[in-house]
Amino acid sequence: MIAAGATIGRLQQALPLDPLENRILLCHALGLPRVALITQSERALTAEEAARLGALVQRRLDGEPIAYIVGEREFFGLPFRVGPAVLIPRPDTELIVELALERLAPQGRLLDMGTGSGAIAVAVAHTRPDASVTALDVSEDALAIARANAAANGARVDFLRSDWYGALAGERFGVIASNPPYIAAGDRHLAEGDLRFEPAGALTDHADGLSALRIIIDGAPAWLEPGGWLLLEHGYDQAEAVRALLAARGFAGVQSWRDLGGIERVSGGRL
Ligand code: GLN
Repeated sequence: MIAAGATIGRLQQALPLDPLENRILLCHALGLPRVALITQSERALTAEEAARLGALVQRRLDGEPIAYIVGEREFFGLPFRVGPAVLIPRPDTELIVELALERLAPQGRLLDMGTGSGAIAVAVAHTRPDASVTALDVSEDALAIARANAAANGARVDFLRSDWYGALAGERFGVIASNPPYIAAGDRHLAEGDLRFEPAGALTDHADGLSALRIIIDGAPAWLEPGGWLLLEHGYDQAEAVRALLAARGFAGVQSWRDLGGIERVSGGRL
């Protein structure tokens, strides 16, 4: 599909993906840093390199997310390893990290529920080495990736395999943060784009979209310090429902915050 002898410079134009993706896959296939696209633009690909690049481009044409193809995605300025066992970190999720950081006291304790790639926990622990960060997930495969991400980013995080609060014991947290599965069963987005390749258990609760959020809200008072914050990422149309659940569970200062797209993306309250 890609001819040996084509140059790096020419392929940036000629590959069938969008320009940014062309460059990402060229660098990945050849093991080159971005700057080589300029400094080595006249370099011609060997037959082996052309075949390798062709296979990567075909995977992308078949719909596989670019982050899974290269095995990495940047989040909160840090590189995260990703694979089909974990959701690809979204820029929108940086909002809950910022809200958690603003509310975490010096030497405070944070719990990330359903950590997946470890994005929230690792971003917080990396920014705040004084904090004590715990992250749990029900998936052993996700925890393996999250542990690798903590190690690679020099972040100190305690990991725990747990079905929501099930395996927690004997400690309370100043902040509980979660980006749980919140897409309702049968939502058409699950059959579109990157979501088709992501783990269903990280995206949907296989119910009305609120069932994981309900479990987390119901259990949180037993695991929060007095005055502690619960922060939850949710879907574009769930803010009102999540605020109502928080208020009904006795949380104070219940509010929602908007993401970069102007959508109410995180809601929270204080015990
Ligand atoms: N924000 C993701 C999406 O809509 C879903 C993430 C989640 O379910 N926690 O693509």
